[in-house]
Amino acid sequence: MPDTIHTRYAIVGAGTAGIAAAEALRETDPAGDVVMIHGESVPPYCRPLIVELLMGERAADQILIREPEWFAERQVTLLSGAPVVNLAPREKHLTLASGRTIAWEKLLIATGAQPATPPIAGLTDVPMLTLSTQEDVARFRPHCRPGARALLVGIGLLGLQAMTALKALGVRVIAVEARSKILPMILDVRAAAIAQRRLEENDIEVHVGTKLTSVGRAAGGAAGCVARTGGGKELGFDFLVLTTGMRPNLALLDGTGIASERGVVVTENMETNAEGVYAAGDVTQFHNWIEERAEVHAHWVNAYRQGRIAGTHMAGGQAEPYRPSYLNSLRLFGLPIVTMGASRIDDPQGAQVHIAGSEVRPAYTRLVVRHGELIAATFVNDVTRAGVFQYLMRQRIQVGDAAASLLAQDRAGMEFLHKIHAEAISGDVEWPASMDLIDRYRKDHGHTRWGTDKKTEKSEA
Ligand SMILES: Cc1cc2nc3c(=O)[nH]c(=O)nc-3n(C[C@H](O)[C@H](O)[C@H](O)COP(=O)(O)OP(=O)(O)OC[C@H]3O[C@@H](n4cnc5c(N)ncnc54)[C@H](O)[C@@H]3O)c2cc1C
Repeated sequence: MPDTIHTRYAIVGAGTAGIAAAEALRETDPAGDVVMIHGESVPPYCRPLIVELLMGERAADQILIREPEWFAERQVTLLSGAPVVNLAPREKHLTLASGRTIAWEKLLIATGAQPATPPIAGLTDVPMLTLSTQEDVARFRPHCRPGARALLVGIGLLGLQAMTALKALGVRVIAVEARSKILPMILDVRAAAIAQRRLEENDIEVHVGTKLTSVGRAAGGAAGCVARTGGGKELGFDFLVLTTGMRPNLALLDGTGIASERGVVVTENMETNAEGVYAAGDVTQFHNWIEERAEVHAHWVNAYRQGRIAGTHMAGGQAEPYRPSYLNSLRLFGLPIVTMGASRIDDPQGAQVHIAGSEVRPAYTRLVVRHGELIAATFVNDVTRAGVFQYLMRQRIQVGDAAASLLAQDRAGMEFLHKIHAEAISGDVEWPASMDLIDRYRKDHGHTRWGTDKKTEKSEA
């Protein structure tokens, strides 16, 4: 192997963003050399599926992000187990841990994120686990004995995935969240209360508003470990699981001049400030247009979309500018939840909040409208209407006074949707796949409200 490889495109990272970029750039440039670099020594895999690997529902070869042939067919040279240790954007080359260099014309940084570590004293004195790589899964296995006690720190989306796996393995889960509600980045306080109850019904011991200050081995030779909280509580456990969020992998950027804050700063076309250098996926920071702030967000769909945009631009093609998706869809021990937009904000300034259902009702829906636009929506236990609201938000359609009617599914709300639907079709824009609301309404009322039968419509009025 030569000490220096010359390539037109170098992609650092073979996760969702890197793969999406390679796929997109091949569509525009079928011939340019592509070298993709994967820091881990196992074949590239779909990160969310490591939860199923941990539960024993899939084997390692069933979570591959792409089969080996995919790389061969697209003439993408994949270097696995090859961590990059230095980037030199001015000289346009990078160095691998092996000492080999790669000279490139265009570079994509798609190095993802890694688990954040909160400031808790004594972390190195107790068995401490994170869940982000296949190696992490291997480290979990010896601890996951039925009846063992896991103390899970951080009840966000990642925490939820980890606790689902732990429960399935028979581990007892004690979960703490520093903020006053669970899933604090996506749920308002009422939705969080419903979700918390679901966890408790599934024997998860939940402590919200609880910050751990220190952890250590139990005193007097007793088995296990003890955590102390800011409020003076003591919680016993056998191993600790940190799920307090993800931090972009920025170490490679030190001294390169590539601008980063919380993540790599990118344009809507995924360009960095360095000529010929792009970034995509969890490593980036982007503008949250709803809350008007910089945001980093570990999100598979965003990583995929950013990767495609970056790859297309790297190859000289044109792509729609990046607009983040704030849609989260999950099942919390069977309870379906969909959130979108600024759904975590309990008291949004200058906005109207519309709620149907409550903590004690089986289904809870919340819409937030600002300047006539939908900026947040939450669906708990009935998510059939989520697609329609996602469409309204993504297209920034003025819902104005119709919000309450949309929530109530009354006649005015349906007529509003009917109008939008007609516009959507004539305007040749994508209508969401989920048409459940309209379809259900049609079925329930058994008439042609959505067709052209004006007579039926009039006779009802
Ligand atoms: C347990 C778990 C469950 C998740 N579940 C969901 C979910 O249900 N829904 C959802 O939307 N998101 C989920 N996510 C988040 C999702 O996995 C990420 O948003 C997505 O994988 C990001 O893709 P990426 O390509 O940016 O980064 P990654 O997939 O993390 O890929 C990063 C790549 O960079 C490489 N790399 C890093 N540093 C170097 C280096 N120095 N040299 C060479 N290579 C390097 C790595 O080896 C890897 O190939 C989950 C994450 C985890 C950990």
